[in-house]
Formats: sequence, structure tokens, C-alpha cells
Amino acid sequence: MIKRSFLGLVKPKLEMPPVPEGRFEIKAVPTPGRVTLLLEKPKDPRLASDTVALSKGDRVKTGQKICLSSDSTVYTLSPVTGTVFQVSPSIGDFGTTYIAVSIEVEPEDVFDEAFQERMKQPDAALAREHLSALPGSPPFGAFFRENASIDTLCIMGVDSDFLSTTQRYILAHQRGALKRGIDGLKTLTGVERIVLAVPAGADPQLVDLGAEVREVFTRYPHTLPQLLMQTLFGQTVPAGKTCEDLGTVFFSAEAVAALGEAMQHGRFPGHKVLTVTGKDQTAHMVTARIGTPVREIFNMLEIETQELDRIVFGGPMTGSAVYSEDQPILPHTDAVFVQDRSRIPPISQNPCINCGECVRICPARIPVNMLVRYLEAGRYDEAADLYDLHCCIACGLCSFVCVARIPIFQYIRLGKYELERMHAAEANHA
Ligand code: SF4
Ligand code: SF4
Repeated sequence: MIKRSFLGLVKPKLEMPPVPEGRFEIKAVPTPGRVTLLLEKPKDPRLASDTVALSKGDRVKTGQKICLSSDSTVYTLSPVTGTVFQVSPSIGDFGTTYIAVSIEVEPEDVFDEAFQERMKQPDAALAREHLSALPGSPPFGAFFRENASIDTLCIMGVDSDFLSTTQRYILAHQRGALKRGIDGLKTLTGVERIVLAVPAGADPQLVDLGAEVREVFTRYPHTLPQLLMQTLFGQTVPAGKTCEDLGTVFFSAEAVAALGEAMQHGRFPGHKVLTVTGKDQTAHMVTARIGTPVREIFNMLEIETQELDRIVFGGPMTGSAVYSEDQPILPHTDAVFVQDRSRIPPISQNPCINCGECVRICPARIPVNMLVRYLEAGRYDEAADLYDLHCCIACGLCSFVCVARIPIFQYIRLGKYELERMHAAEANHA
């Protein structure tokens, strides 16, 4: 684990904290009176008026598919039964736009018959058209990209950021669902090579799950997929390419367990496991319906927040701050933590002093001190062409060590987002 608080800008010793052994208490967050689902809109500006084919007063069932009107590949599944209360636009990081669907929840689930019927014929189309919205967000879309040639699936039984023990919890406590999910993955994708990445010293009986078990370092950033590609498969992901381009798709253990549960019961499992860490740095494992406002979780755990405290979805290295306790838990939200306002490390507009710390720590060997100059100036194309922006594996270590307290990782994210948006717009005008 981090030997000193991640809240201070010190050189990290980045060992992940262990999952407690033996019986581990997981707390169930009561189903809230209202959940909110978010559908991310495509970056194409012509789809600015995109919405969903639902309006206030419509009834939805648990597992019912809700898609954007323009594009059925962007969808979610309702985790509850209830009545639509509101459909409205919503804005996320860097101007990402969403359609937010709020649903007033009924006490009893009524399961969607179309989902149940479709689960009786498991095939690749089912995976693409229904199962990408399972808890853990299984990336089935990777199989349908142009020229996709996937020959390996890697299941992450390790967590990819600090303050999350979610994947290791699933590995330890949901073996039956994981085994069914691994069988399901083989059926749905036809891929035979399935590798299960586990922490060193994990239970030898994990081999019974039907995957090739491989132990990996749990020292950050070795649990990030791009680095696992090297340690597990001896492959380096080239700049601008993805693990999928090299034939490997990464699934979280939770996504696979959720698939196993859906295949066993023929129903959408709408609960998410997540690690919640309060201001005193006490970690809690909870399970909550997807769409639950984070406020409800804080209430149950008696975590109190004040103005200017920071709430982060994800881990301290790669997570994103949210501005409201109304923010809902999403299918991929593995962790939430709260920082007391007195312990938030300041950021600055100080210039880079060329200390070289960011360059030394960068696992992708990027000249970060030069990269950040171009990003600060909004010269994103040059940042990519001259200083390897697309080699960045988004580990966040450069921000962590920067002595000038420059928010380098935020600049990197903004740069990547802007380039993606510009290229989407150019492609539509070509
Ligand atoms: S986030 Fe920073 S340290 Fe990590 S790979 Fe990118 S540039 Fe390098
Ligand atoms: S760590 Fe910060 S101050 Fe040091 S070289 Fe990198 S960007 Fe500049």
C-alpha cells in the first residue's frame, strides 16, 4: 500500500492494500426512491439533439433496454422497475454530454420479458445488444470493431487503482458466478484462451474456474492493462493502438461474475459492488443498485461531507472528481472516495521547473516536461505528434510527483478528449 498518504505529493511506494481475509462484511445499500441512468452521447455535433424514446410517466421494467434514439449501440439496461420521472441533458468531464434518465423506483422488481427471452439464445449479438450494460461494463463492443481479431480474453482479478478492492473481492467471494461467467464468455465470443490475472499468492483452487491463472504484481501501475500486456503476454502496445488491436480484450472480474449471474437466472443483475473510502480513510465494501445517487451510500455509511470536500469516482490516480452527491453509481464505478477539504493537495499555475521527476516516473517514457508545455498551450496536435501524447497509458503518476503541482494528468485527459472530438468532427465533414 502507499506508505504515506496519497494526499501529499510525495514519491509513492505503490503497493495495493490487501483484501481482508476470511469472511468480509459487505453492506447492501437500500434501493433508493429514485435512480438516474446516464447515456453518453456520441461526439458528433450533428447528434446534439439526441435523446431517448422515453418521457415522463413511462413505465420501465428491470432489465429493459434504453437506447439513444440515433444509435442503438449506446444503451443501458434499467436496474429497477419504476416510472420515468425526468429525461434531461447532463454534462460530465471536459464537456462530455449525456442523457440522464431518472426513474422513480417501485418496491418490487418486474423483470423485462424481452431480456429474459433473449438470454435463452446466448450468442455474440446478445452480448453486443444487451450485455455491455452489465455491472462492470463488459467490453463486448471490441468484438465488432472493424478488422477485429480477438484471440485472448484477460479477466482482471486485480484492481487497477488504489482504494479499490472490488475486483479482488469478487475473485475471493463470487467464485460460482465467475465460473459460470467464464463458461459464458467462451459461448458468447468463441474465444478459447481465457487468462485470469490474480494477485501473487492467490488461492491455488482458482484453476478450477476454467481459465489459465496467472499471478501478477499488485504494485501500481503494473495492474493497468497496457502493462499487463507486457508482463502477461510479452507485447508492447504501440502508440495510438489498443490492447484490442493486439488481439486481447480485458474484462473485470465483476463483469464476468455478472455475466455468470445473468446466464444462470436469465435476469439482469442490477447491483454493483464498490469500495467506498471515507475521509478517515476507512474502506467499506458495499453493493448498490446501478443509478443510486452517491448521497444514499454516504448516508448509509454515515460519511458526512462539507462544502469544498472532494468526492472522487474511481481511484486517486485515475479517478474523476464529481460536483454533486446526486451523481449516480455507474456500471463501471468500482470505487468512490472522499477527501476532506483540508487535505486536498493544491494545484498551481506555476511554471515547470524542469526537475525531471515526471519523466523519471513515467512508465511510457514520455518526455512529460515537454508534453505538458504543449498541452498547457492547447497545441494538442503537436503534443501528439512531437511528444507522444498517444503513448500515455493514463496512470496519473506524473501529476502525483510533480513538484510544481501542475495538474498534468488533467491536461493529458483534456488533450486526448479534444483530439478525439476534433477527429470525429473532421471525419463527419470528410
Ligand atoms: S499519465 Fe503521465 S506518467 Fe502516466 S503514462 Fe501518461 S504521461 Fe506517463
Ligand atoms: S515534475 Fe512538474 S515541474 Fe518537474 S519536470 Fe515534470 S512538469 Fe516540470
